[in-house]
Amino acid sequence: MDTPIYLDHAATTPLDKRVLEKMLPYLTDTFGNADSPHAFGRKAMQAVDDARDKVAELIRARKNEVYFTSGGTESDNWAMLGGAYAKRGEGRKKIVLSSIEHHAVLSSAERLQKEGFEVVVLPVNEGGRVALNTLEEAITPDTALVCLMTANNETGVLQPIDEACALAHKNGALFFTDAVQGAPYMPIDMQKNQADILSFSAHKFYGPKGAGVLYIKNGVKIAKLVGGGEQERGMRGGTVNVAGVVGLAEAYALAREEMSENNEKIKKLVRLYLQEISCLDGVTQNGDRENALPSVLNLRFEGVDNTTFLYKMDLNGVCLSAGSACASASVKPSHVLTAMGKDDVWAKQSVRLSFGKNNTEEEIKRSARLTVETVRALRNF
Ligand SMILES: *Cc1c(COP(=O)(O)O)cnc(C)c1O
Repeated sequence: MDTPIYLDHAATTPLDKRVLEKMLPYLTDTFGNADSPHAFGRKAMQAVDDARDKVAELIRARKNEVYFTSGGTESDNWAMLGGAYAKRGEGRKKIVLSSIEHHAVLSSAERLQKEGFEVVVLPVNEGGRVALNTLEEAITPDTALVCLMTANNETGVLQPIDEACALAHKNGALFFTDAVQGAPYMPIDMQKNQADILSFSAHKFYGPKGAGVLYIKNGVKIAKLVGGGEQERGMRGGTVNVAGVVGLAEAYALAREEMSENNEKIKKLVRLYLQEISCLDGVTQNGDRENALPSVLNLRFEGVDNTTFLYKMDLNGVCLSAGSACASASVKPSHVLTAMGKDDVWAKQSVRLSFGKNNTEEEIKRSARLTVETVRALRNF
């Protein structure tokens, strides 16, 4: 059989060969520990410095606002816990977040709740977007931290982060946004974005796994989580993943350079797919497609169990998922679709396709054909 078709770019993306080229020296000859005060260390530190410069310039931040981490999950944990702990000193003990955050954020909120914080989880509307009036009500002068993701990873729906940020600041709270899913498709610009803390991760934009960023605005104090050496200006211990941060910076530079081209290409592929499956009835798009990333399509096929559908598609060489990869081992319906008011049956008939820059029209046509066949077969069964 042909190589399988990959339609799960919201879970991860393949490493761009150009990125690998930049990383290779730091996995082999230039292997030094960036903190060693000798020639090997200096060379590694130079690479880390250059990567930090490049990322800072691209997101229009200062160099000392860019912290390298092991990925989106660590960045999210650090932002949530570190932000909450720092603000607890001011007597603030309320955390406000949306119900559709990634599990890296939700699990941190659960932990904060166990530690005595009041956690307010905001609903979303049918389109998958947090309503501003709920934010306004929830954010009060005793709020420590407000968290709202830039774009949701299961539906692609964009969130009103500027408005949420303004409300947080009006009440003296920190504002954190998880931009992991948005970063490949929307430019991060910290001169426009007023967030205090922002996370993103290299492997969602054709960089290596295990490398991420936490942006922390100058003057914003958050508690440190990973203790050890004095790396990352004393805020995050651990030998820096030199090849990882070199790859992150290169992948992000390419993502920015080629963003509009990639977005256009992906939009065309999504249109093609929808057109090719338009012969099916009982198909509904989950989430407000007018305010969404170009790459994610969340579809409900009426009467079709998603586990069986995904299994059949995989068997025939098309790989997609039911939602976030982190939750797909569990049989629970998606917390995102549930938050959007969908019942369990609806959620269990929904799948996520996420398209990428390397997908071809041929692949999309083949995937659409297989979708039609599989949906029909399962409905007749
Ligand atoms: C993938 C993802 C994460 C987790 O990032 P990792 O680098 O895989 O740990 C967090 N938030 C969102 C929205 C994501 O899509």
